Amino acid sequence: MTDHRHSALAYIGLGSNLASPRDQLARAMASLAALPVSERVAASSLYASAPVGPQDQPDFINAVVAVRTRLSPLALLDQLQAIEQRHRRVRHRHWGPRTLDLDLLWFAGLNCRFPRLTLPHPEMIHRRFVLEPLAEIAPTLSLGGELPGCLANRLEDQPLQRLSA
Ligand code: ATP
Ligand code: CA
Ligand code: CA
Repeated sequence: MTDHRHSALAYIGLGSNLASPRDQLARAMASLAALPVSERVAASSLYASAPVGPQDQPDFINAVVAVRTRLSPLALLDQLQAIEQRHRRVRHRHWGPRTLDLDLLWFAGLNCRFPRLTLPHPEMIHRRFVLEPLAEIAPTLSLGGELPGCLANRLEDQPLQRLSA
């Protein structure tokens, strides 16, 4: 159980386009639920987006998870990268190394720029596949004074499908 008096809320974006991306995300969701000194407090639905460019690859599957954590931002990034490494160990002949991507989107409202970590994630406000799942679990979150749902509405040219559970 996390001590909420000293914990921070963080949002993590998940993405995969391995042949079985739903399995990757299911495993990643379980890994995020088991983070040290942390508690997974919400998980969005899964969303599918067609790949940009060559269409001869599977759809991307994306989701966003909220955690309460006593880890520092950089310690949380270390944990996320360790989970990515475990997933990348799965060898698959025809697909590239990117089987799982975990981005730290937002951490306690911090604005910071370390060599390894920029917060909030600088691209999130341009990506419907991040904003729609974020709007589902954090509809009142302020991103530079704007709501994720409002930002997402401006990106309707980016095809995105919410998948049933
Ligand atoms: P993008 O960041 O545009 O989504 P990407 O996820 O494909 O691209 P990666 O190759 O996964 O990029 O990560 C490159 C580096 O980004 C990582 O080594 C990490 O240190 C750095 N990084 C900076 N800010 C963040 C953040 N908020 N979340 C995750 N990684 C970050
Ligand atoms: Ca990414
Ligand atoms: Ca990344």
